[in-house]
Amino acid sequence: MLGFDEDRTPATAPLQPPDPVPAPARHAYGYATAAPSKAVASGISPAAADSRQRRVRLEDKRILNASADVNQLVPIKYKWAWEKYIAACANHWMPQEINMHRDIATWKDPNGLSEDERRIVKRNLGFFVTADSLAANNIVLGTYRQITAPECRQYLLRQAFEEAIHTHAYQYIVESLGLDEGEIFNAYHEIPSIRAKDEFLLPYIDVLADPNFRTGTPDADQTFLKSLIAFACIMEGLFFYVGFVQILAMGRQNKMTGAAEQYQYILRDESMHCNFGIDMINQIKLEEPRLWTSAFKAELKAMFMQAVELEYQYAEDTMPRGVLGLNAPMFKEYLRFIANRRATQIGLDALFPGASNPFPWMAEMIDLKKEKNFFETRVIEYQTGGTLNWD
Ligand code: FE
Repeated sequence: MLGFDEDRTPATAPLQPPDPVPAPARHAYGYATAAPSKAVASGISPAAADSRQRRVRLEDKRILNASADVNQLVPIKYKWAWEKYIAACANHWMPQEINMHRDIATWKDPNGLSEDERRIVKRNLGFFVTADSLAANNIVLGTYRQITAPECRQYLLRQAFEEAIHTHAYQYIVESLGLDEGEIFNAYHEIPSIRAKDEFLLPYIDVLADPNFRTGTPDADQTFLKSLIAFACIMEGLFFYVGFVQILAMGRQNKMTGAAEQYQYILRDESMHCNFGIDMINQIKLEEPRLWTSAFKAELKAMFMQAVELEYQYAEDTMPRGVLGLNAPMFKEYLRFIANRRATQIGLDALFPGASNPFPWMAEMIDLKKEKNFFETRVIEYQTGGTLNWD
């Protein structure tokens, strides 16, 4: 088995070396000389004056700072991006398809869940009801306009919609269970372990959301790459996983199975978001190897180490005692295992050599039964809602 979160469209780190960059768009540092010489975020660049005489060529396409027109999807250069877009659309689901009646009965029953289990549910929702909004903001306000490969933009548009579906799913669980909406939606202000994770992330959104931010210099490109890693590898690749394990563990014990089913669909989507981000990161590295300096790698390592610590604090806060066969020390090992995996996926050394996975069953969670014959049964299953097997 390759890992704990392999899905049908795992990160497929590009192996081909980058195409040579056409000289006219570059200066001595190898970057586009100025905005007018590269594709602009919104459409046809001034440089596209050229393209009236010359059609888009594969070699003009780049993840960042391309000279090619960003509105021309084809010729497709980054097939992994297009394939993930197709797979993501095939995985479409909506929160209302999932029956929440048993969860509602369990939640209302004073003996339905222990206090520790209720704490897990509320803390989980407290983090996630705003987390996917942050992820969406990062795409829409930051990442999207810097990416100059239209096939990657196509996936990002789909991903942004999925973040909306996830926020909808968490809201739907909150509403179904009749939880205190003020308490849950304000948890990211009021619960220190959640606040700490969001405060870690916000600077990485803010820097890209600055209207004056633009890639095209070594510093700016490193800033962009670091934000991409913060979101793909840490937010979607690490900060979600304590919560996913907890709720999916509950589902495996036949508790809160509706919520767990929602989380299972979300996990599948998030696994692809993470893998898509990793593909972009690795492609940018191939296209601009000079960004990957020793100093930059040291910065990334420090970022990962801090993130593991924050997520572990969150695990301790959500689980002050052992519950559901889980306890905080198991998560220490798990987070080290995931951090190693994310680091090595982008070409860094393992941060915690030898860490092992205490939750091997998580791999099965991503491989939804429904997906196996998804294309044949999609319409019927879409209309009736899929059911997942928890045994
Ligand atoms: Fe996501």
